[in-house]
This record gives sequence, C-alpha cells and structure tokens, in this order.
Amino acid sequence: MEIIVAQNAGFCFGVKRALELVARAAENKARPVHTLGPLIHNPQEIARLEQLGVRPAESLDDITGGAVVLSAHGVDPSVESEARARGLEVIDATCPFVSRAHQHIKTLCDEGYAVVILGDPGHREVEGLAARSDRQAHIVTAARDVEALPARKRFGLVVQTTQRPEVLREVAGALAARCDELRVFNTICEATVSRQEGARRLAETVPLMIVVGGRNSANTTRLKEICERAGAHTHHIETAEEVKPQWLAGVARVGVTAGASTPEWMIQRVVDRLRKIADESAGS
Ligand code: SF4
Repeated sequence: MEIIVAQNAGFCFGVKRALELVARAAENKARPVHTLGPLIHNPQEIARLEQLGVRPAESLDDITGGAVVLSAHGVDPSVESEARARGLEVIDATCPFVSRAHQHIKTLCDEGYAVVILGDPGHREVEGLAARSDRQAHIVTAARDVEALPARKRFGLVVQTTQRPEVLREVAGALAARCDELRVFNTICEATVSRQEGARRLAETVPLMIVVGGRNSANTTRLKEICERAGAHTHHIETAEEVKPQWLAGVARVGVTAGASTPEWMIQRVVDRLRKIADESAGS
C-alpha cells in the first residue's frame, strides 16, 4: 500500500511560534507559566507542554501569579488588560496573521462600516475578532446567513484565518448585493490556503484520506470537508490508535494530511501505523 503525506501538512508558522514562545518561557523556573485555555487545538501537544511544567488555566481566576500565555488564536483585549492589572507577566503568542485581522476590524469600525465576520461562532479566534468591534460585528458562517442581516449602506468583511476561500467569495457576493459599498479584507492566512490546496490535490488522487488533528480544531475540520468534496472517503482522527484496519481493506493508496496544530511526530505515528497494518494484512 502506498502512503502519501500531503504537502504543507501539520504545524504552521503561527503554531510553531506560539510553542517556541511557551518553551522559552518555561525555561525560567523562577515563576510558573500558564496557558489560558488550550494554547493550540491539539490535546496531545498540550499534554507534552504540561510535562515541561506549563500549566493550563481556564480563566485568570485560576492563576495566582507568574506568567500567562495568550494563545495563537488571540483573545479579547479586556482579558489581556485584566491580566496586566493583576500583575501577571503577559506573553502574547497571538499569530501575527490574527493580529492583522484585529487591526482590520478596528479600521472598519473607525471608518463607520458595519462589520461582518465570516467564521465559526464560539471559536476563540472569532470571539477575539468580535471583541475588536465591541461585539457589534455580525458573525456569518455562509452566504445564506447574509439575508438575515439588517440593511446597511456600508459593510466591511473580515474572515477567520482558517476559512475556505470559495466560502469567502460566496459571502462577499451575497453582501455586495445588499449594500452600496463593501470593503473586504481577505484575512485567510497563506498557511491555510497552501495546506487546503495540498489536501485537495492529494484527495483527488486517492480513495482514502486520513486527516489528523484535534476534534476541536477548526482548520482540521475544514480539511476533512475539503477531502470529502474532492471525492476521497475521509476519516478525521486525533491519534494513530484510532486508525481501524478495516478502513484499509482493498485500498492501494492512502493519503494523510494534518491540521495546523498537529506536530510532525503525530503525523509520523499515523504513517507508521498505516504501514504496520498494511504489512500485517499482506503477510496474513
Ligand atoms: S493557521 Fe495561519 S493564522 Fe492560524 S496560527 Fe497558523 S499561520 Fe497563524
């Protein structure tokens, strides 16, 4: 059986940067280091950080002192000011691409546009984006949601960094039909685009795709959708142990891709397990 790993699978620039910041902060054992909520959407990598002494906290109330790391997804600015007011050392691991989207929302608000965010409601990145508009932004998930928006002369559109470009085009088209002026900031990040493209190209050529990543990871969920649309039977797993031998029955080629917060060692474990199952079934 041939096992092919998609181009640009796994860690992106923003996640690598966040992990490096945390690892560096954890070297100083003079004070505890906390992450606020999961630093990235990958439970196994979070467990590895805990072994380095990094403590996860659900809220600032769980932290009595030391340093707090703001995740790559960004946070509500009031959380950052509150952390500083409580005397905590703040380590900002917000991905620069997310910070750029924050800045665009501020610009749109200052210039009087009604802000629309294309994103997953409740996702931390989207919550952080909405907070930049004082929670006045309308959050939509698809073009069909645009009909329900109140009439406005000027709309400004910003996108969660991990959305699909074709959905952005559909939403922008629907918004353009409902206002006099539309300003669009395409804030889908380049790492997302290239990972989605790599997954789609591979999924078009194999009957089976395995997508590796946290179940709560928006970009991993999107990769699964893309692989299914490209025609491959697709399974989303978090760990190698979830691969079932029966998935591989009669399959000559299998593709593997992974979300932005999936480390290389997890991808390799999945590849190793696929190889082991294939070798065992060939020998039986
Ligand atoms: S997916 Fe893009 S925006 Fe999100 S952390 Fe990675 S590089 Fe940054």
